[in-house]
This record gives sequence, C-alpha cells and structure tokens, in this order.
Amino acid sequence: MYLRLSCCNIKAMAGKKERPTPSQSRADYFSGGKLAGEEGTIIKDWGGRYPFALIYPNEYSVGMSNLGVQAIYKMLNSESDAVCERVFWENDGKPFLSLESSRPMMDYACLAFSFSYELDYLNLANIMRAAGIPLYSCERDESHPLLIAGGPCITANPMPISPFFDALCIGEAEVILPSVLPILVMDSSREDKLRQLLGLPGVYVSAFHDGHKITRRWTAILDDFPTHSVVLTRNTELGDLYLIEVERGCSAACSFCLVSRAFCPLRFHSLESLLKQAREGLQYRKRIGLVGPVVTDHPEIEGLLSGILDIGAGFSLSSLRLKKLSPRVLELMIAGGAHSLALAPEAGSERLRKSIRKGFTEDDIMQAVGRVAEQPFKQLKLYFMLGLPTETDEDIEEIITLSLKCQTLLDKSQKGCRLTLNVAPFVPKAGTPFQRLGMADMATLENRITRLKDCLSGEGIEVKAESPEWSHVQAALSRGDADMAAVLAEMDKVSLAAWRRAVKKAGINLDHFVLENWGRNAKLPWDMVDLSPRE
Ligand code: SF4
Repeated sequence: MYLRLSCCNIKAMAGKKERPTPSQSRADYFSGGKLAGEEGTIIKDWGGRYPFALIYPNEYSVGMSNLGVQAIYKMLNSESDAVCERVFWENDGKPFLSLESSRPMMDYACLAFSFSYELDYLNLANIMRAAGIPLYSCERDESHPLLIAGGPCITANPMPISPFFDALCIGEAEVILPSVLPILVMDSSREDKLRQLLGLPGVYVSAFHDGHKITRRWTAILDDFPTHSVVLTRNTELGDLYLIEVERGCSAACSFCLVSRAFCPLRFHSLESLLKQAREGLQYRKRIGLVGPVVTDHPEIEGLLSGILDIGAGFSLSSLRLKKLSPRVLELMIAGGAHSLALAPEAGSERLRKSIRKGFTEDDIMQAVGRVAEQPFKQLKLYFMLGLPTETDEDIEEIITLSLKCQTLLDKSQKGCRLTLNVAPFVPKAGTPFQRLGMADMATLENRITRLKDCLSGEGIEVKAESPEWSHVQAALSRGDADMAAVLAEMDKVSLAAWRRAVKKAGINLDHFVLENWGRNAKLPWDMVDLSPRE
C-alpha cells in the first residue's frame, strides 16, 4: 500500500543520534500515566529507523479522538523503516516529550504536525519554544528536525504558517506521505530534500516556491485505507467509542462550508469494510462511533446501522442530513443507544437558507423534527450560524419563530425531548464560495446572540453561543497571508489579550482579513492552491 524505503536509506539513518528504547514504566512516568490507560500503543525500536514525532498541537484528551492523527500514526508505523511517536501539547510546564519513548523533539528527524483547526496555530510558538527549536524555517539548519504539517485548514490556506514549516501537505496524507517519505530519509542536505519535495504534487515548500499551482491530492478508493481507532483510551472526549470513518466529502455544496471543497469528491467506505471494522472494534468497545460529514448519506446506512446492532454493538453518529432523516434510521439510532441528535438548519429564514445553498425548506425541517419527536430522544440540538452574508435582524426573528415551532412539536409528543440551540458566527473560509466575504462586526454578533437568548431562554430553550471574538481570530487565520506568521510568533499564551498584543506588535490590519469584503479581482493569499478534485 505504501512505498517501501530502501536499505540504503536505512544505512543513511545509521549516523543518527539514538538512545535505547526506554522501559515501559519510564515512558509511563513521563506520559503522566496516559500510556498505562491505552490499548494499541505502538512501541517500535528506533534502531536504524527514521523517527517522526507526530505532534497534535492541543491536549491529549482532544487529539486522541481525532481519526486523522490515529490514521497517520498507523500509516507511518506501518513503514518498516520509520518509527512514529505521538506528542500532545498540554501546556502544563512539564518537559515537552513524546509519549512512547519520552524523548525531546530534537531527537527526531521530522516533526509532523496535524492541524484540525486554525485556532491551534496559536499554540505553535509555545510548542517550538518548549521544543527548543527555532520557530522560523529560515532559522533552522542541518542540526534541526524538518517540520511538515497537514490538515484541512492548511489544505485550504497554508499561508499564515508557511514561514514556520519546511513543507506543507495540500490534501490527504494517504496519497502524499508515501512520496514524501523516501525523500525525507535520503542521505542528503536539508536544502536538497526541500528542493525534491518541491517537485512533488500536493506539497508546498514555501522557501523555494516559484508560484506554480499546487493541486490538492485525494484518495480515490477509501476502502484501500480503512480509517479507525488505533490507540484506545478512556482519557479522551470520545473514549467510550471505537471510531470508524464512514465517508469523506459531501454531496451538498453549502456556500460557507470547507468540507465539500477540501474533501471532494464524495467517497464512501463500503458496507463490507465498515462492518468488518465494526467487528474488530467490538473487541475494544461496546459502541462504535461512525464519523463523517453527513453519515446518513451513506447509500447503505440502514444496512450499516442494523448490521452493527446485529453483531451486538451500539453506535453513535457524528452527523445526520436533515432532509434524508428516515424514521427507520431514527429507530435504529434509539436501538443503538443514542439519547440525543443534532440537525443543522443553519439559518432561520427560507431566503437565507437559499442564499447559503442549504437545499431544504421549512417543511423539510418541521418534518424532520416531527420524526425526531416520535422517538424517545432526550435532546435535540439545532445548529444555526449568525452573521451570514445578507443576514438582517428579520432573519434572527425567523430563527426564534422556527425554534419555537420545533419546541411546540417536541412538547406535543410528550416524550421529554429538550431543545438546545448551538449558534456560531459565520467565519469565511478560504476555498469556499464565501471566501471573499467579511464577517459581521462584534456589536452585530453580540446583539443577535443576546436577542436569541432573551427570547428563547424563558421558553425553556437553552442557547449556547460560540465567542464572536474568538471567531474573528479564526477568520483572521483562515483568510490570512504570510504576514500573519508575525502575529503567531508573538503569542506567548493563548488568550484574547495576548492575541491583541501580538496583532498590535506585528502591525497587522486585522479588519482587512476579518471584516472586509474582497473584490472579485482581488488576489487571494491562497491563490496558488487548487482545491478542484483533479487527479
Ligand atoms: S455544511 Fe454540512 S451539508 Fe453543507 S456542505 Fe458542509 S458538510 Fe455538507
């Protein structure tokens, strides 16, 4: 499945600094007991192998529920000539060491970062300080590890962190890493390696980039790469689940959403492969977590859910399509142990839903909620966005009206289902149809959140809102250019006060990236990325 590394490359590694593999108890001590709570940890001897530190720039409890991290860990360790160990950013003042062998970052030949969200960029400067390695690529030399990174936000716009990394992956790791590995292990200079990486499809090497388009790479047949939990631990958000990826991409094309652009085309794992993985997962957990942008889009969803029940497992779905919400799927969810579910109308008015290409009507919403009401769910969460382009106060009133109608339907059924609203500000994402549009300002977002809370809390509907100010930070990092690196380099801790200080010191005009609409002909910082699904 992956390119093998040659014997010459193994010999080339022989001169690398090596330390004996530490005993499990020593590693347990330095991991703060995390390893002791794991099943599936891969402990490989380093002898002659190319050592990767796989860094998730956030806490263990978050990162261990990330299937991307788990998949890369498995993939790199499946190479006989490589060893991959995990590193998480706990920010607890303790030595910054890998989990498996408690080694410092300078012991590794390559630090491979996996970013899920732009806000994790804010941890980078502190991570590199703790690692004792210069943050900027141009300040590192032959004595330092190479730094590479990937993730959906980097695929869409690698620019804000490009001055820090030697190479950035544009697309899916399964098809990029096999061509990167043989270059990394070569017995050649850092510059030679970077120049060779420059020639690979799906790899952005900012130091030598000549302006050519980089086409996103993607995996044609998902069944070639079953993606599921590899290391299981209870010390993570989804620790009671064995996670299995069901699909990548989405058949819808909502104008604000990165998923349908950064992961297109829509691809599924086969029913046969998913059930095989579920049977394996049942050895570790009683419940299977089915992961994907819209899990109910799987063409054999009912067969999948009933098949999982037949083998004696429960399950949880990460996402449902409102328009395809069949009563049978809801029945199966209850049988699988679900107590709550989430639907995403995103906007309250028909006009706004049309303008974001949501593709369903109020009748569709009410029909879906009516079906939920017939089942004994304890909680229904409705997701809405605020500050969408062209949104007015009238659209907020329509969210209130729609929510109250849903509440009435749920109350009528007398099954005790509680309604919760999760509202998040619209954040423009690179690569989407709304990439040129700015966000709503702080006052507008705060007023609209307050209006929703004032009108719905008294009706027994809880309204949870994401922070408008942090959403502005996210927008700056999503639409930022390479100048944003100067802000990230100044971050000494993750707080809004530290962010404001860093922005001021770097002299960045934040409004340009966060609030302003950009003209049709304005050059985009990420213009060299081609997200289209060519292969
Ligand atoms: S918002 Fe949901 S339905 Fe729309 S494109 Fe994104 S993943 Fe698909």
